Amino acid sequence: MSECLFCEIIAHRVPATFVAEDELVVAIRDVNPQAPTHVLILPREHIASAADLTPAHDPLWGRMLHVAQQIAIDEGVAGSGYRLVTNVGPAAGQTVAHLHLHLLGGRQMTWPPG
Ligand code: AMP
Ligand code: ZN
Repeated sequence: MSECLFCEIIAHRVPATFVAEDELVVAIRDVNPQAPTHVLILPREHIASAADLTPAHDPLWGRMLHVAQQIAIDEGVAGSGYRLVTNVGPAAGQTVAHLHLHLLGGRQMTWPPG
C-alpha cells in the first residue's frame, strides 16, 4: 500500500468515481462535495503540491487545466462559470499531499474564500 490516498485511488486500490482518465491525469468526484459539481484533477505522478512543480511539469500542468476545461463543459458548468483552486500546504487547508485541482461549479461562489 502506498501512503498516499490519491496514489491508491489512481492505482484503483481505493474506490472512487472516475470522470476522466488519460495517460497523465485522472479526475474523480470529491467524496465530500462543496458544490453541485466538485471534481478533483490529479496527476498520475505523485507530486506533493503545486509548490513542487518544476518547469519539466509544464506540459502536465497544462494538461490538468485542459482536462478541467473539458470536464466543466461535460458537467454543464462552463457557461455559468466555475472555480479552479489548488491548496498548497496547511495554511491553505491542503489535506491530501498529492497535487490536485478542485473544479467547483453549479452554484454562485463567494470571494474571499474561507
Ligand atoms: P485538499 O483539502 O485541498 O487537500 O483537498 C482534498 C480533497 O480530497 C477534499 O475536498 C476531500 O473531500 C477529498 N477527498 C478525501 N478523500 C477522498 C476520497 N477517498 N475520494 C475522493 N475525494 C476525497
Ligand atoms: Zn500520491
